[in-house]
Amino acid sequence: MEFAVPEELQTLSARIGTFVRDDIIPHEHDPRWTSHGPTDDLREELNGKAKTAGLFPFHVSKGYGGLGLSHFGKAIAFEAAGYSMLGPIALHCAAPDEGNIRLLEEVANPEQKKRFLEPLAKGETRSCFCMTEPAPGAGSDPGQLQTTAEPDGNGFILNGKKWLISGAEGAAFAIIMARTGNGEGEATLFLTELPNPAFKIEQVIDTLDSSFTGGHASVSNEGLRVSGDAVLGEVGRKGFRYAQVRLAPARLTHCMRWLGSAIRAHDIATGHARSRTAFGKPLGAHEGVSFMLADNEMDIHMARLAIWHTAWLLDKGDRASAQSSMAKVFCSEAIDRVADRSLQILGGPGITRDTIVERIYRESRAFRVYDGPSEVHRWALGRRVLEGRMQ
Ligand SMILES: Cc1cc2nc3c(=O)[nH]c(=O)nc-3n(C[C@H](O)[C@H](O)[C@H](O)COP(=O)(O)OP(=O)(O)OC[C@H]3O[C@@H](n4cnc5c(N)ncnc54)[C@H](O)[C@@H]3O)c2cc1C
Repeated sequence: MEFAVPEELQTLSARIGTFVRDDIIPHEHDPRWTSHGPTDDLREELNGKAKTAGLFPFHVSKGYGGLGLSHFGKAIAFEAAGYSMLGPIALHCAAPDEGNIRLLEEVANPEQKKRFLEPLAKGETRSCFCMTEPAPGAGSDPGQLQTTAEPDGNGFILNGKKWLISGAEGAAFAIIMARTGNGEGEATLFLTELPNPAFKIEQVIDTLDSSFTGGHASVSNEGLRVSGDAVLGEVGRKGFRYAQVRLAPARLTHCMRWLGSAIRAHDIATGHARSRTAFGKPLGAHEGVSFMLADNEMDIHMARLAIWHTAWLLDKGDRASAQSSMAKVFCSEAIDRVADRSLQILGGPGITRDTIVERIYRESRAFRVYDGPSEVHRWALGRRVLEGRMQ
């Protein structure tokens, strides 16, 4: 494996870094970054800045105006974008759109690509992915899927509740997972344009995090009619597999973006450890603080290596299911530790909104739950170990 980062990716990373520092970080106190995420107004303004900087949309296929980055290329670029939580929003490489673009590229038919993927990839629309349901429905266990899709003429009628759906409010379309049979695993993905009165947003939920445009909504599908050409891929049995097409790389891109935020928290803590004094010397000269900085560096380094290795496997065409699970668990927990230590090093100011560390600490916590809670990945990995399927 080649660890040297190609020059063009170093240049891209530096350009994104400068853009995020100069054009995006000054917006972090913008009141349009609400508790339900950045407003569309703020997002569009930041997208405009990214266009001016020649970085929009940079990560998508060349056919849609991007650079067609490999997974490894994304690892380098998304880390730089994540230095501000608004960076991925500005650069249109945030969840859930980034994962949906990938899913549509792999599974959509030509007509669906033209109608849904093209405007999404070009950053003209937003989208959402609707899998999770309130109890007793689908969560960690997608097999508990309750939403039904009943055949009706040449289409289907969908009924059921979804919740924690990022970006549903304001999305131009939804990808909805519904049960198309009673057998185990009979799930189908459907595309539907929004708004639609039968896709009812009941509430944008108040949550710990606030970095997703549109927040997270509960949605009620009440007799939502979709035509036969709304089926993404094939009917039945493949819905869960398609979801995996989306989820394995999508959980890795979350790791990349959050790594950038962890580095930001660490940089702020390092600056504070150099300048603030206590007991006659800089904080960083106290071993207890320097050890925290060293632990931050180790977590950041190991997280980056886990991301790079998984990205390298994905680029070779490997599904990298086990590696992406390991990377997701390790990165989400390492990033949490870095945010926690950084806040601790800041002392009182760490608790205030004077720095972004407080927000990174809060926001990164949710990553240990979405795209598979740590325990579910550990459980799945444990099964692989026992069955000798780790290689
Ligand atoms: C910020 C955020 C954004 C999200 N965005 C979306 C979205 O856009 N679309 C979407 O469909 N969903 C979304 N989700 C939902 C997310 O995918 C689910 O929360 C996640 O899959 C867990 O499901 P659950 O919440 O129902 O928890 P449950 O399945 O009820 O699990 C609860 C807890 O039980 C434990 N647990 C579960 N199974 C096991 C096991 N086998 N072994 C050990 N412990 C276990 C874990 O600790 C887990 O955290 C989002 C969630 C969050 C927090």
